[in-house]
Amino acid sequence: MQKKSKQTIEELEYIISNIPDLVIRINLKGQITFINAASILFFNKTPDLLIGKDLEGLITDEGMAPLDQSLIQRIFETRQAEIIEGELHSPSGVCRNIEIRILPEPNRFSDERHLVLLIRDITLRKEAERKIIQAKRKAEESDLLKSAFLANMSHEIRTPLNAIVGFSQIILDDDITREEQERFYEYINQNSNQLISLVNDIIDLSKLESNHLVIRDSAANLNQIVEEMKVMAENEKKTREKDHILIFLEKEVPDEEGFIMVDHYRLKQILTNLLANAIKFTPKGYIQFGYRLKDNNTLLFFVRDTGIGIPKNKQGEVFQYFHQLENTLNRANTGTGLGLAICKKLVELMKGTIWLQSEPGKGTSFFFTIPYRKA
Ligand code: ATP
Ligand code: MG
Repeated sequence: MQKKSKQTIEELEYIISNIPDLVIRINLKGQITFINAASILFFNKTPDLLIGKDLEGLITDEGMAPLDQSLIQRIFETRQAEIIEGELHSPSGVCRNIEIRILPEPNRFSDERHLVLLIRDITLRKEAERKIIQAKRKAEESDLLKSAFLANMSHEIRTPLNAIVGFSQIILDDDITREEQERFYEYINQNSNQLISLVNDIIDLSKLESNHLVIRDSAANLNQIVEEMKVMAENEKKTREKDHILIFLEKEVPDEEGFIMVDHYRLKQILTNLLANAIKFTPKGYIQFGYRLKDNNTLLFFVRDTGIGIPKNKQGEVFQYFHQLENTLNRANTGTGLGLAICKKLVELMKGTIWLQSEPGKGTSFFFTIPYRKA
């Protein structure tokens, strides 16, 4: 009989020592009376340094908050098992999420009353939970964004289309003067251009969102690109009746060394929007743009204006889709609020970063980097 019970104990010991959870038994004073192999491994202390020690001391010392003496006392009194969650910092400095089941032992086991603690490492589960919650939030957000996007887009498309349809219906009426005809033609032309640039932006956007936009590098001359941008900006200035604004171009590399590998079409697209913004939002003063070599491998482009500026708390928002700052919403500053969002995505696809510095009333500087690779 004794042999049989000895064998049973050995079997149980074998099982407990192979449980990956920490199994700890404590008495009424909170002192450890039993500890399994997993706990010894976790605390990295020999059993004689653990048996008889205060569990609270051991665990709170390690940064474990929710397991305190009052909880232990309560379980002794109510004899109700409890499950709590917390964090445990192992002596090696690793923080783990844990779940502790605290079970009151039946009185009949021994004269002294005991609790058994089963401590399980739930770090992976917690991580998975966090990821699921994050993914859910993201899905909900993008759902909202999509609805707002569609509403915005149909408005943006309908406005120029209505103008085009409306003016083309009356442009040939008999009672219309030649001047009126010219003016209506101009409206139709402007609105058509606006519609084309909106459709282009939307196509880019959907390609960017579905990761279908490919950056195609080829050899191009950096100085030629920025010179072309200057001509574009001078034209834009005229269209916006801002001839009084001066535009300065800064180039660092000599023409003959300016051949680089770049997607020149996309680079021009970024510069075009930054320059158009600078012209749009600058009532007087000047615009300075160009590039510098940030280091041997990086080009730094900048577009600086002396315009209305962007308040600090709004500076992050301007890179969001359809985001236009209230103070800039007037008829002269028409736009959709897609430009900077597209610029940011393009710059990032080109392995660079984009940022801005601005002071309301003084001006704004946009900067972006792209890799500098000589062709
Ligand atoms: P789109 O470029 O789609 O035609 P947009 O120019 O209004 O329209 P973004 O280029 O994305 O849109 O710019 C977003 C907003 O950021 C602008 O509406 C404006 O409020 C603000 N902003 C951008 N550039 C400047 C600038 N240089 N100075 C002041 N505000 C600016
Ligand atoms: Mg813009």
